[in-house]
Amino acid sequence: MNLSTDRHDKTDLGLTWRNTFAELGDDFYTRVSPQPLPDPYWVAHSTSLARELGLTPSWQQSDEWLQALSGNRAVAGTEPLASVYSGHQFGVWAGQLGDGRAILLGQTASGLELQLKGAGLTPYSRMADGRAVLRSSVREFLCSEAMHGLQIPTTRALCVTGSDAPVYRETAETAAVLTRLAPSFVRFGHFEHFSARAQVEQLRALADYVIDQHYPQCRGAESPGGKAYAALLQAVSERTAKLLAQWQAIGFCHGVMNTDNMSILGLTIDYGPFQFLDAYQPGHICNHSDTQGRYAFNRQPNVAYWNLFCLAQALLPLIEEQSLAMAALEPFKTMFPQELERQMRAKLGLTDSTAPNDRLLIEDILSLLARSGIDYTIFWRRLSHSVGSGDVTPVRDLFLEPAGFDGWWLRYAQRIGAQSRQQLSQAMLRANPKFVLRNHLAELAIQGAKRQDFAALASLLEVLQAPFDEHPEFEHYADFPPDWAHSIEISCSS
Ligand code: AMP
Ligand code: MG
Repeated sequence: MNLSTDRHDKTDLGLTWRNTFAELGDDFYTRVSPQPLPDPYWVAHSTSLARELGLTPSWQQSDEWLQALSGNRAVAGTEPLASVYSGHQFGVWAGQLGDGRAILLGQTASGLELQLKGAGLTPYSRMADGRAVLRSSVREFLCSEAMHGLQIPTTRALCVTGSDAPVYRETAETAAVLTRLAPSFVRFGHFEHFSARAQVEQLRALADYVIDQHYPQCRGAESPGGKAYAALLQAVSERTAKLLAQWQAIGFCHGVMNTDNMSILGLTIDYGPFQFLDAYQPGHICNHSDTQGRYAFNRQPNVAYWNLFCLAQALLPLIEEQSLAMAALEPFKTMFPQELERQMRAKLGLTDSTAPNDRLLIEDILSLLARSGIDYTIFWRRLSHSVGSGDVTPVRDLFLEPAGFDGWWLRYAQRIGAQSRQQLSQAMLRANPKFVLRNHLAELAIQGAKRQDFAALASLLEVLQAPFDEHPEFEHYADFPPDWAHSIEISCSS
């Protein structure tokens, strides 16, 4: 296939556009235009992403931008399309899915692709309406930018626009469109789609496209042919292992780790019923629709491996030898625990060489947190401060029965020995965020947005984009969750 680079790129909205995915051909997508949304208004913007894209500051006031990102104005040079994919949902083959409400406009010169999520019907909408509601769009917007602030790989979010046009879920809700960006939105499910249909040429074209665009280093391993594809699988396994280690260390629960929600680039993608842990409960289930707890917090690493196994099966016609495919998955099993241990050691400030009992120190503090249901984020942040100040009371006070913690603290103090406590504390404050997007914080921002009061949303975004800084004026965003937070139910409905 010839993915030519000499096509004429066109400029609109001050950006130069192309769409390399479109060059794959019609087996991979259907061309579709965003559907208009009446009287749109701005809900939120990420100024930091806008800066990365090189947008002029006035874009936020521009009606051209507002109309374009709400689906009311065609953007010259883009080639809007909805891609087709399949996937396993909750462990069961679901067949064809596809972009049911996300429309890819194209790539900008930054190398990021831009999608409008909630921009109307596509051939893959199945029985649904192609729309997104304000609450889920605000959650995805805030969490994308929060993850980026936490240095965790993720799709980004540029803005949300809203419209009073009703969208019906359990009740009538406000419509919204989320503008999101990523180097690629290709999912494991894209490969599963062509593999399940025995469309090997399309499968190969997709794998070649992903290698050429995003994993050029896999080309080196080319002879015999299958090795480049095994190298791709291995690279995806490694990125997924790193991503999962970051999720587990920060206390992030994705909620719907179906294979169609797994990024081929190892990005966090498709924010739905996600949750950052409040109390540390390893078996926490954040998705109200997940009655079996398949996607419980502590099952995420195993599910990721299961999903990688599905990807390996999908790539088998290209890799050819089962043993090569299995070998390409192997790094997940070693890399995930190594990476997780590295992340957890960083949370404890242990960035020097590993001591023999470090793993035990980590396991023991996690079981103490679990036993008492201690707030995960607050514990680590207070610990980071206590190491610097020498006053352990704020951490100790978190435990109803502090004897277990006291014993652990003595061992920890011995382990850090004579290192500078100030330096250690500073490093820990860069590993343990003060702010995460707790469910109740998202909820407050959503309640405001529904009244067209966007102040809480904007201030929350500001702290989440720099979650390791103190932001003393926003102390309340770092508080324990209020009692009503436990009654928030987040399901797949969005
Ligand atoms: P999700 O669980 O949100 O990743 O969605 C699973 C599949 O359902 C994807 O193919 C989505 O595009 C599709 N989908 C979800 N909500 C809608 C909607 N409101 N309209 C059309 N398709 C949808
Ligand atoms: Mg999805």
